[in-house]
Amino acid sequence: MYEIKKWAVSNINSGTPLLTKEMFYNKVPKEEGAVVELMDEKKHYVATALVGKQNKGIGWVISNKQNQVFDYAFILGKVRAAVDKREMLFKSEETTAFRVFNGISDGIGGLTIDWYDGFALFSWYSEGLFLHSDTIYSAFEKVISYKGIYAKRRFGENGQFVDDDNFVKGEIAPEPLIIKESNINFATYLNDGAMTGIFLDQRDVRRYIMEELSAGKRVLNTFSYTGAFSVAASMGGAIHTTSVDVANRSRAKTAEQFEVNNLNPQDHTIMVEDVFHYFKYATRKELEFDLVILDPPSFAKTKKVTFSATKDYGTLLEQAINITAVNGYVIASTNHSGITMSDFNKTIKNSFAKQGRKYHVETTFEQPVDFASIKGYPESAYLKVVILKVLS
Ligand code: SAH
Repeated sequence: MYEIKKWAVSNINSGTPLLTKEMFYNKVPKEEGAVVELMDEKKHYVATALVGKQNKGIGWVISNKQNQVFDYAFILGKVRAAVDKREMLFKSEETTAFRVFNGISDGIGGLTIDWYDGFALFSWYSEGLFLHSDTIYSAFEKVISYKGIYAKRRFGENGQFVDDDNFVKGEIAPEPLIIKESNINFATYLNDGAMTGIFLDQRDVRRYIMEELSAGKRVLNTFSYTGAFSVAASMGGAIHTTSVDVANRSRAKTAEQFEVNNLNPQDHTIMVEDVFHYFKYATRKELEFDLVILDPPSFAKTKKVTFSATKDYGTLLEQAINITAVNGYVIASTNHSGITMSDFNKTIKNSFAKQGRKYHVETTFEQPVDFASIKGYPESAYLKVVILKVLS
């Protein structure tokens, strides 16, 4: 039993699932993968946790029941509940990629499982949890029949990604592996570094862009990565899309996403360019767009510019507003868990005021159902997307 401080008892009792070393007195649990019980100053049981050091924290609460073990039966229960919750997605014919298991929101912190048309991609965020991987794969196998399993271990230094080869078992996935989302095709790669080619948590936003925002529009997609938003816009009838990303590989990756939908990349503009530089160019050339998409990383460093969403989002947004037509739209998105929806709305208000433009909030998006968050861990609700209509 490990004694935790008074404030930690109260946090855990009110639903905080993440353990940090500050919660403990001198004796901090360190054995990766061990199940430990936490107690208060009076030696009363508080909760049971699994030890696993990760980017933030040193483990996760797994239960409020004393003598809880982290075994096959326990894991099976969690996996089954997670799969049942996604029944609609498994049945869908128009969408074949989504999240099956979302870490602590599905009861096991430090593990996510994504589904890519029959292939399961596990992301392991601590060595402690990874030590139980065989049991977890067995439980998963019991619940779902899959084509193949891939895994990424993300518990290197600073939460870095550590594998060269992500293949675990079953069939080898084709490259690219074409998944469908709202009937749009996306080329994905399960064995190509840390990212797969698509961020599945933006599904609802892509659908909205396709169905509601893009017909007849001139679209600018900044921080475009593989151009997923551009393809959604094009499928929805945009007249032209411009995708801007500083990474060299984004050009071929974006062209590929158009091609797998039988769209001609030559009809679109794909630029390998620093977004901040692009905005200067666009302003000088007096370019104008009907839809500007802003989905920057929380932090980004290029040779010339360092961007931090907390500090610089407002300036970035001002530049986007500046090249958006009257009655056009700006999509402001951030995945920074440190920025709350209310902070974000203030930043938006401020940027419009500084540009002397008027707007209204058309709608907002958070994570889709398969990425559900939990109250006890507000950081799990990281995605904020605000659809803004520029009125004047
Ligand atoms: N919006 C994308 C995901 C963005 S991921 C999508 O929905 O798929 C973040 C991207 O920002 C990366 O591809 C990275 O190369 C790019 N990036 C980071 N800093 C940048 C900068 N200063 N200019 C342009 N692109 C940048």
